[in-house]
Amino acid sequence: MLEVHRTHRAKIRNHSQVVDSLDRHGWSASKLWNVANYHSRAVWEDTGEIPDHGDLKDEVKTHPKYKGLHSQSSQRVLEELAEAFNSWYGKRKSDSRANPPGYRKRNYYDDDGNRVHEEHPRSTVTWKQNGIRHDTKNNRVRLSKGANHKEHPKAWEYILVEYETRPGVTVENLQQVRAVYDKAKGRWELHLVCKGEIETPVAPGNESAGIDLSICNFAAVAYSTQEADLYPGNRLKQDGYYFPKEIAKCDDSGGGEATRLHHKWSERRTHFFHSLAKHIVERSVEKGVGRINVGKLAGVREDENGESKNWGKHGNLDLHRWAFDRFTSILTYKAKAEGIEVGDVSERDTSKTCCVCGREADSQRVERGLYVCEECDAAFNADVNGAENIRLDLNDESNSESSGQLSEDRSTGWLAQPAVYLHDLSSGVQPQAQVVDCKP
Ligand SMILES: [Zn+2]
Repeated sequence: MLEVHRTHRAKIRNHSQVVDSLDRHGWSASKLWNVANYHSRAVWEDTGEIPDHGDLKDEVKTHPKYKGLHSQSSQRVLEELAEAFNSWYGKRKSDSRANPPGYRKRNYYDDDGNRVHEEHPRSTVTWKQNGIRHDTKNNRVRLSKGANHKEHPKAWEYILVEYETRPGVTVENLQQVRAVYDKAKGRWELHLVCKGEIETPVAPGNESAGIDLSICNFAAVAYSTQEADLYPGNRLKQDGYYFPKEIAKCDDSGGGEATRLHHKWSERRTHFFHSLAKHIVERSVEKGVGRINVGKLAGVREDENGESKNWGKHGNLDLHRWAFDRFTSILTYKAKAEGIEVGDVSERDTSKTCCVCGREADSQRVERGLYVCEECDAAFNADVNGAENIRLDLNDESNSESSGQLSEDRSTGWLAQPAVYLHDLSSGVQPQAQVVDCKP
């Protein structure tokens, strides 16, 4: 059996009865975020390192604000903050305008500049299993209050929420409840995360695929059926120019415009990763693939000038590693649901080695996106060559297919002419007729 998680959105039926409590917990989440954020920034300034959520927990668990929520809910706020810091940490060197996660607070001043009022937004509050009692018969959940919001700190007090899902939805094996405030509607709603099981699917076949992730072509895929696909990352790159510029234009007087843009940017990235992963998994099912190897960033790769391939600076490397990890986890999840196994393979030497004869060339052999092999007297698409080497898994000694041992009767035309797929927001992933010029 394969474990899957589904999230159901639910309307709150007794909203007027629970809104005050939910508001108080939403504000508490914002206040805890701010306390932990202040601490993270202080550590960053002192040491140049950012604390992870474990460090954060040790530091703030005795702080009064930690008791504004159930302990597991407080912990989730700290995890979220640590994730936000990590993502900023990755971006900061390649994008000098990237800001660390902001405070969740808005200040109001009088004419003399004295603060007269402050407001906290209603942050999403997450309850995990210890904080939830689920009444499946009556469609109700009891959500544990933070000690600060109880009449007696040790009492078992909860917010009793009656929910309503779309017709036909069964809520069972509830793992997590998120209370999310919908600003436009001025209402809270619940996201109910349920664990389910499905029959472990049978793999579509015994074919294999290799994926090389890089900057220009976000993904190059080589299939054992001797076909190759390229997915240029131009959409990601365009967004990478557009959004920082727009964000820089925002005056950060608390209007939230910069936050909105950051959010939109991140949503578009996630959308791209999902569309791409879906497309690759569909293609893999068609071709009877049972295993996909994904190249794992081993370190810095070199281009024809011996320069690190765009990501020599550490910040870039972090950013791309972050994007590739995120994409790989989405792909793994989607592939699993089709019975396809996904494995990490070291990228070491995969860009230098000819995937047909196994000859290891020096870096000068990679020119204008082409891999040139003198031995074979041929030129392949460099990323497809990398993907094919990853499929063959060069570093797996037990693999008899590696080092081009099957080279004799292999045709190589497909290595030079991959199909190209572009992504756009309205139509998703679409084949493209001409090859995109990729300047290194
Ligand atoms: Zn060769």
